Amino acid sequence: MCNAHNPTTVDTPLNPDPEALYRRQFLKYIGAGSAVAAGGALASCTTNAATGRSQFTAFAPSEASLANAAAQSWTEVKRQTPTTNDPRYMGRLRNIGSRISQGAGRADKPWDYAVFDSDTKNAFVLPGNRVGFYKGMMDFTDNDDQIAAIMGHEVGHVAGAHARERYSQMMLGQLAIAGGTILAGSQLQKRCKQATTRREYNDCMQSAGRNTQYLQAALGMGFQLGVVLPYGRRQELESDRLGVRYMAKSGYDPYQAVRLWEKMGAESPSRGPEFLSTHPTPERRAQELSDYITAQQKLGSQGYRTLDIPEDA
Ligand SMILES: [Zn+2]
Repeated sequence: MCNAHNPTTVDTPLNPDPEALYRRQFLKYIGAGSAVAAGGALASCTTNAATGRSQFTAFAPSEASLANAAAQSWTEVKRQTPTTNDPRYMGRLRNIGSRISQGAGRADKPWDYAVFDSDTKNAFVLPGNRVGFYKGMMDFTDNDDQIAAIMGHEVGHVAGAHARERYSQMMLGQLAIAGGTILAGSQLQKRCKQATTRREYNDCMQSAGRNTQYLQAALGMGFQLGVVLPYGRRQELESDRLGVRYMAKSGYDPYQAVRLWEKMGAESPSRGPEFLSTHPTPERRAQELSDYITAQQKLGSQGYRTLDIPEDA
Protein backbone atom coordinates (compact mmCIF):
# COMPACT_ATOMS: atom_id res chain seq x y z
CA MET A 1 0.00 0.00 0.00
CA CYS A 2 1.43 3.41 0.80
CA ASN A 3 4.92 2.14 1.42
CA ALA A 4 5.21 -0.51 -1.27
CA HIS A 5 3.09 -2.75 0.91
CA ASN A 6 0.98 -4.55 -1.64
CA PRO A 7 -2.10 -6.20 -0.16
CA THR A 8 -2.62 -8.42 -3.20
CA THR A 9 0.73 -10.20 -2.94
CA VAL A 10 0.38 -13.89 -2.17
CA ASP A 11 3.40 -16.17 -2.04
CA THR A 12 3.80 -18.59 -4.91
CA PRO A 13 3.85 -22.10 -3.47
CA LEU A 14 7.15 -23.96 -3.77
CA ASN A 15 5.44 -27.04 -5.14
CA PRO A 16 2.73 -25.82 -7.48
CA ASP A 17 -0.32 -28.04 -7.40
CA PRO A 18 -3.30 -27.92 -9.76
CA GLU A 19 -5.31 -25.99 -7.22
CA ALA A 20 -2.60 -23.38 -6.97
CA LEU A 21 -3.03 -22.65 -10.64
CA TYR A 22 -6.75 -22.33 -10.08
CA ARG A 23 -6.17 -19.96 -7.19
CA ARG A 24 -3.64 -17.88 -9.11
CA GLN A 25 -6.13 -17.41 -11.91
CA PHE A 26 -8.47 -15.81 -9.46
CA LEU A 27 -5.94 -13.69 -7.70
CA LYS A 28 -6.15 -11.23 -10.54
CA TYR A 29 -9.80 -10.74 -9.71
CA ILE A 30 -8.82 -10.15 -6.12
CA GLY A 31 -6.30 -7.63 -7.37
CA ALA A 32 -9.09 -5.92 -9.27
CA GLY A 33 -11.34 -6.01 -6.21
CA SER A 34 -8.58 -4.54 -4.14
CA ALA A 35 -7.98 -1.79 -6.66
CA VAL A 36 -11.68 -0.93 -6.56
CA ALA A 37 -11.63 -0.92 -2.77
CA ALA A 38 -8.54 1.24 -2.61
CA GLY A 39 -9.63 3.56 -5.36
CA GLY A 40 -9.41 7.15 -4.26
CA ALA A 41 -8.28 6.07 -0.81
CA LEU A 42 -4.63 5.93 -1.86
CA ALA A 43 -4.49 9.68 -1.92
CA SER A 44 -5.18 9.69 1.81
CA CYS A 45 -1.97 8.03 2.93
CA THR A 46 -0.48 9.88 5.86
CA THR A 47 3.09 10.22 7.07
CA ASN A 48 3.54 9.28 10.68
CA ALA A 49 5.49 11.89 12.62
CA ALA A 50 7.09 9.40 15.02
CA THR A 51 8.22 6.85 12.44
CA GLY A 52 8.51 8.92 9.26
CA ARG A 53 6.69 6.07 7.53
CA SER A 54 3.81 6.58 5.13
CA GLN A 55 0.73 4.78 6.40
CA PHE A 56 -2.54 3.67 4.94
CA THR A 57 -5.18 4.72 7.43
CA ALA A 58 -7.93 5.73 5.00
CA PHE A 59 -10.38 3.10 6.26
CA ALA A 60 -9.72 3.65 9.96
CA PRO A 61 -12.06 5.58 12.23
CA SER A 62 -10.73 8.71 13.90
CA GLU A 63 -8.37 8.39 16.85
CA ALA A 64 -11.17 9.66 19.11
CA SER A 65 -13.74 7.09 18.03
CA LEU A 66 -11.19 4.28 18.30
CA ALA A 67 -10.37 5.50 21.81
CA ASN A 68 -14.08 5.54 22.59
CA ALA A 69 -14.53 1.97 21.39
CA ALA A 70 -11.48 0.91 23.38
CA ALA A 71 -12.94 2.43 26.55
CA GLN A 72 -15.47 -0.41 26.61
CA SER A 73 -12.77 -3.07 26.21
CA TRP A 74 -10.73 -1.41 28.96
CA THR A 75 -13.68 -1.50 31.37
CA GLU A 76 -14.49 -5.06 30.37
CA VAL A 77 -10.98 -6.42 30.85
CA LYS A 78 -10.76 -4.70 34.25
CA ARG A 79 -14.08 -6.25 35.22
CA GLN A 80 -12.92 -9.74 34.24
CA THR A 81 -9.43 -9.65 35.77
CA PRO A 82 -8.90 -8.07 39.18
CA THR A 83 -6.50 -5.16 39.28
CA THR A 84 -4.16 -4.23 42.09
CA ASN A 85 -3.42 -0.84 43.59
CA ASP A 86 -0.38 -2.14 45.44
CA PRO A 87 2.10 0.76 45.17
CA ARG A 88 4.97 -1.69 44.61
CA TYR A 89 3.32 -2.34 41.26
CA MET A 90 1.11 0.63 40.45
CA GLY A 91 3.44 3.30 41.84
CA ARG A 92 6.34 1.80 39.96
CA LEU A 93 4.40 1.49 36.74
CA ARG A 94 3.09 5.07 36.92
CA ASN A 95 6.56 6.38 37.54
CA ILE A 96 8.06 4.47 34.60
CA GLY A 97 5.09 5.37 32.41
CA SER A 98 5.49 9.05 33.18
CA ARG A 99 9.22 9.00 32.34
CA ILE A 100 8.68 7.09 29.09
CA SER A 101 5.79 9.28 27.97
CA GLN A 102 8.05 12.30 28.48
CA GLY A 103 10.79 10.63 26.46
CA ALA A 104 8.21 10.00 23.76
CA GLY A 105 7.05 13.63 23.82
CA ARG A 106 3.61 12.47 24.89
CA ALA A 107 3.47 13.59 28.49
CA ASP A 108 0.72 16.08 27.62
CA LYS A 109 -1.69 13.22 26.86
CA PRO A 110 -3.77 11.60 29.60
CA TRP A 111 -2.33 8.13 30.33
CA ASP A 112 -4.21 5.44 32.14
CA TYR A 113 -2.41 2.47 33.71
CA ALA A 114 -3.59 -0.75 35.27
CA VAL A 115 -1.82 -3.72 36.85
CA PHE A 116 -3.76 -6.96 36.63
CA ASP A 117 -3.45 -9.41 39.47
CA SER A 118 -2.42 -12.37 37.36
CA ASP A 119 0.72 -14.41 36.69
CA THR A 120 0.40 -13.89 32.94
CA LYS A 121 3.57 -12.50 31.39
CA ASN A 122 2.03 -9.93 29.15
CA ALA A 123 1.23 -6.26 28.70
CA PHE A 124 -0.88 -4.39 26.21
CA VAL A 125 -1.97 -0.96 25.10
CA LEU A 126 -5.41 0.15 23.96
CA PRO A 127 -6.29 3.22 21.92
CA GLY A 128 -6.77 6.19 24.21
CA ASN A 129 -3.37 5.74 25.96
CA ARG A 130 -4.43 2.88 28.21
CA VAL A 131 -1.59 0.61 29.24
CA GLY A 132 -2.20 -2.68 31.02
CA PHE A 133 0.52 -4.78 32.67
CA TYR A 134 0.01 -8.17 34.27
CA LYS A 135 1.75 -8.70 37.61
CA GLY A 136 3.49 -11.75 36.14
CA MET A 137 5.15 -9.54 33.56
CA MET A 138 6.45 -7.11 36.14
CA ASP A 139 7.67 -9.94 38.39
CA PHE A 140 9.52 -11.49 35.47
CA THR A 141 11.64 -8.39 34.86
CA ASP A 142 14.96 -7.83 36.65
CA ASN A 143 14.75 -4.06 36.99
CA ASP A 144 12.90 -0.85 36.11
CA ASP A 145 14.76 -0.57 32.80
CA GLN A 146 13.18 -3.82 31.61
CA ILE A 147 9.73 -2.62 32.60
CA ALA A 148 10.57 0.60 30.75
CA ALA A 149 11.42 -1.53 27.69
CA ILE A 150 7.90 -2.96 27.66
CA MET A 151 6.34 0.41 28.43
CA GLY A 152 8.37 1.96 25.61
CA HIS A 153 7.17 -0.74 23.24
CA GLU A 154 3.52 -0.12 24.15
CA VAL A 155 3.90 3.64 23.79
CA GLY A 156 5.55 2.87 20.44
CA HIS A 157 2.32 1.23 19.27
CA VAL A 158 0.48 4.44 20.15
CA ALA A 159 3.02 6.74 18.48
CA GLY A 160 3.10 4.48 15.43
CA ALA A 161 -0.72 4.70 15.13
CA HIS A 162 -0.66 0.92 14.76
CA ALA A 163 -4.24 0.31 15.84
CA ARG A 164 -5.62 2.64 13.18
CA GLU A 165 -3.30 1.27 10.54
CA ARG A 166 -4.18 -2.33 11.29
CA TYR A 167 -7.86 -1.55 11.31
CA SER A 168 -7.56 0.16 7.94
CA GLN A 169 -5.59 -2.74 6.48
CA MET A 170 -8.16 -5.26 7.63
CA MET A 171 -11.01 -3.22 6.19
CA LEU A 172 -9.21 -3.03 2.87
CA GLY A 173 -8.60 -6.78 2.99
CA GLN A 174 -12.27 -7.48 3.62
CA LEU A 175 -13.30 -5.20 0.79
CA ALA A 176 -10.76 -6.73 -1.58
CA ILE A 177 -11.92 -10.25 -0.76
CA ALA A 178 -15.56 -9.28 -1.22
CA GLY A 179 -14.86 -7.42 -4.46
CA GLY A 180 -12.62 -10.13 -5.87
CA THR A 181 -15.08 -12.89 -5.03
CA ILE A 182 -17.92 -11.08 -6.76
CA LEU A 183 -15.81 -10.65 -9.90
CA ALA A 184 -14.61 -14.26 -9.88
CA GLY A 185 -18.13 -15.54 -9.20
CA SER A 186 -19.57 -13.62 -12.13
CA GLN A 187 -16.85 -15.03 -14.43
CA LEU A 188 -17.70 -18.57 -13.34
CA GLN A 189 -21.38 -17.92 -13.92
CA LYS A 190 -20.69 -16.52 -17.39
CA ARG A 191 -19.23 -19.87 -18.38
CA CYS A 192 -22.51 -21.54 -17.47
CA LYS A 193 -24.17 -19.77 -20.39
CA GLN A 194 -22.43 -22.28 -22.64
CA ALA A 195 -24.59 -25.03 -21.11
CA THR A 196 -26.91 -26.68 -23.62
CA THR A 197 -29.56 -28.02 -21.22
CA ARG A 198 -31.34 -26.53 -18.22
CA ARG A 199 -29.91 -29.21 -15.99
CA GLU A 200 -26.36 -28.62 -17.16
CA TYR A 201 -26.88 -24.92 -16.53
CA ASN A 202 -28.20 -25.52 -13.00
CA ASP A 203 -25.32 -27.86 -12.17
CA CYS A 204 -22.85 -25.33 -13.51
CA MET A 205 -24.36 -22.50 -11.46
CA GLN A 206 -24.35 -24.64 -8.33
CA SER A 207 -20.71 -25.53 -8.74
CA ALA A 208 -19.87 -21.89 -9.48
CA GLY A 209 -21.48 -20.97 -6.15
CA ARG A 210 -19.53 -23.66 -4.30
CA ASN A 211 -16.25 -22.65 -5.93
CA THR A 212 -16.83 -19.03 -5.12
CA GLN A 213 -17.40 -19.91 -1.47
CA TYR A 214 -14.28 -22.07 -1.42
CA LEU A 215 -12.33 -19.27 -3.00
CA GLN A 216 -13.57 -16.76 -0.48
CA ALA A 217 -12.47 -18.98 2.40
CA ALA A 218 -9.09 -19.77 0.84
CA LEU A 219 -8.36 -16.15 0.05
CA GLY A 220 -9.46 -15.01 3.47
CA MET A 221 -6.91 -17.40 4.89
CA GLY A 222 -4.25 -16.31 2.39
CA PHE A 223 -4.88 -12.74 3.32
CA GLN A 224 -4.41 -13.49 7.01
CA LEU A 225 -1.17 -15.40 6.52
CA GLY A 226 0.27 -13.43 3.65
CA VAL A 227 -0.56 -9.86 4.46
CA VAL A 228 -2.05 -9.08 7.84
CA LEU A 229 0.31 -11.10 10.02
CA PRO A 230 3.64 -10.00 8.50
CA TYR A 231 2.43 -6.48 8.77
CA GLY A 232 1.84 -7.09 12.45
CA ARG A 233 5.40 -8.31 12.80
CA ARG A 234 6.70 -5.16 11.17
CA GLN A 235 4.69 -3.08 13.60
CA GLU A 236 6.16 -5.07 16.48
CA LEU A 237 9.70 -4.40 15.29
CA GLU A 238 8.83 -0.74 14.79
CA SER A 239 7.48 -0.54 18.35
CA ASP A 240 10.59 -2.26 19.69
CA ARG A 241 12.78 0.39 18.08
CA LEU A 242 10.56 3.26 19.19
CA GLY A 243 10.62 1.71 22.66
CA VAL A 244 14.42 1.80 22.97
CA ARG A 245 14.46 5.31 21.50
CA TYR A 246 12.15 6.40 24.33
CA MET A 247 14.23 4.48 26.86
CA ALA A 248 17.37 6.30 25.73
CA LYS A 249 15.61 9.66 25.88
CA SER A 250 14.24 8.94 29.37
CA GLY A 251 17.60 7.90 30.80
CA TYR A 252 17.00 4.14 30.89
CA ASP A 253 19.53 1.63 29.61
CA PRO A 254 18.29 0.50 26.17
CA TYR A 255 20.34 -2.72 26.34
CA GLN A 256 18.01 -3.91 29.08
CA ALA A 257 15.43 -4.38 26.31
CA VAL A 258 17.81 -6.88 24.72
CA ARG A 259 18.33 -8.62 28.07
CA LEU A 260 14.56 -8.83 28.51
CA TRP A 261 13.99 -10.49 25.14
CA GLU A 262 16.88 -12.88 25.70
CA LYS A 263 15.29 -13.82 29.00
CA MET A 264 11.93 -14.33 27.27
CA GLY A 265 13.61 -16.50 24.65
CA ALA A 266 15.23 -18.68 27.28
CA GLU A 267 11.90 -18.97 29.05
CA SER A 268 9.87 -20.38 26.17
CA PRO A 269 12.03 -22.37 23.75
CA SER A 270 9.03 -24.35 22.50
CA ARG A 271 7.19 -21.44 20.91
CA GLY A 272 5.43 -22.12 17.67
CA PRO A 273 6.89 -21.16 14.30
CA GLU A 274 7.43 -17.45 13.90
CA PHE A 275 5.57 -17.21 10.60
CA LEU A 276 2.27 -18.11 12.25
CA SER A 277 2.56 -15.49 14.91
CA THR A 278 1.99 -11.77 14.83
CA HIS A 279 4.97 -11.43 17.11
CA PRO A 280 8.55 -12.05 16.05
CA THR A 281 10.36 -14.66 18.15
CA PRO A 282 12.05 -13.30 21.29
CA GLU A 283 15.43 -14.36 19.87
CA ARG A 284 14.90 -12.35 16.73
CA ARG A 285 13.74 -9.33 18.67
CA ALA A 286 16.77 -9.48 20.96
CA GLN A 287 19.14 -9.70 17.99
CA GLU A 288 17.39 -6.95 16.03
CA LEU A 289 17.39 -4.63 19.02
CA SER A 290 20.99 -5.31 19.91
CA ASP A 291 22.13 -4.46 16.34
CA TYR A 292 19.93 -1.39 16.30
CA ILE A 293 21.04 0.01 19.67
CA THR A 294 24.73 -0.55 18.85
CA ALA A 295 24.35 1.29 15.55
CA GLN A 296 22.40 4.16 17.12
CA GLN A 297 24.77 4.64 20.04
CA LYS A 298 27.68 5.05 17.61
CA LEU A 299 25.85 8.08 16.22
CA GLY A 300 25.98 9.81 19.60
CA SER A 301 23.49 12.67 19.89
CA GLN A 302 22.39 12.01 16.30
CA GLY A 303 21.27 8.50 17.24
CA TYR A 304 17.73 7.15 17.49
CA ARG A 305 16.42 9.51 14.82
CA THR A 306 15.64 6.78 12.32
CA LEU A 307 14.19 3.33 12.84
CA ASP A 308 16.11 1.40 10.12
CA ILE A 309 13.64 -1.44 9.88
CA PRO A 310 14.94 -4.09 7.44
CA GLU A 311 12.93 -4.28 4.22
CA ASP A 312 12.21 -7.99 4.65
CA ALA A 313 10.76 -7.51 8.14
ZN1 LIG B 1 3.51 -5.17 20.56
